[in-house]
This record gives sequence, C-alpha cells and structure tokens, in this order.
Amino acid sequence: MSADEKTRAAVFGQIRQFGDPVLKEESRPVEVDDELRKLVDRMIKIMYAADGVGLAAPQIGVLRRIIVFRFDNEVNVLINPKITWKSEDTATEAEGCLSLASLAVDVERSNRIRAEGEDLEGNHKIYEVEGLKARILQHEIDHLEGLMIVNRASREQRKDLMARLRNVRLPGED
Ligand code: ZN
Repeated sequence: MSADEKTRAAVFGQIRQFGDPVLKEESRPVEVDDELRKLVDRMIKIMYAADGVGLAAPQIGVLRRIIVFRFDNEVNVLINPKITWKSEDTATEAEGCLSLASLAVDVERSNRIRAEGEDLEGNHKIYEVEGLKARILQHEIDHLEGLMIVNRASREQRKDLMARLRNVRLPGED
C-alpha cells in the first residue's frame, strides 16, 4: 500500500459503510456549542480526505442532526436541517455515497428545495437551491432519517444492487 492508499483507507475506516445499523437510525437534534464545532471540524476533514461533496454525522457513527457539504467548493454546515419546501418537478440522476463505496444509484429528487437550520453560531439559516445543490441537501438530510440511496432506488435496481453488494469488498475489509 502506498502512503496515499493508507491515508485513504484510514479515512474510509472512519466512515460507516452500508450494512452498519447506525445508518438506519434516526438522528436527534443538537445544540450548537464548542463540542459540536469540534465534531463539525472532524466531519469537514473526513469529507475532504474522502473527496466527497457531503457528509452527515451518522456516517461517522454520531446520531445527531448535522450535515456538512460543498457548494461551489465552499464548505457549508447546517445544524438541525429541515426541508421546508420542495418542488413537485423532479429529476432522476445517478448518485453516489461515501457509505456505499463505488456504487451509484439512480435517485429521483425534487429539482428545487428550501432547507432551513442553524449555522455554527446558532443563527437561523435558509438555503433555496436547485439542481445539484438541491440533490446534495436532500441526500444528506436523508441520512438523518436513516435513509440511503438504496432506499430511494427503484425496486428492480434495488434487487440488482443487493446482489452486487454481496460481492463488493468494502474498504477496510481483507
Ligand atoms: Zn450519503
């Protein structure tokens, strides 16, 4: 293993993978304090090291309502996020997930949404976004409800996926 591969393996070792029961749990609301800010720092580091566009706290085993994500390469943090509006028009596109190494799933999502929550100072924050940004937020907020892209896949695709997952070697496994 090269140094790069080792770093990558160490990072993925911290990300819970599909099949881990924690990913099916509902996360609880949090209060913004120094401990939470430390946790958010850790989440951002892991997201970058894993080259992801978003990460939800349950993906590192913490059942709290916290998400970090990248919009136009800028880091965003949303605490206790809620989707307060979504458009009826949708699009279906392939989505990946750091907790589902190297698999992509077609997922139907609303094209536009409004999400509300708090920032790291505890201020109310509103995102009104569309396209990829709306998709990222819907994906990360799903994690807080214990939902993954597998749960959003069509029936046929899910069957196919389960068959393929049985043969996938997850990072960290020998
Ligand atoms: Zn994910």
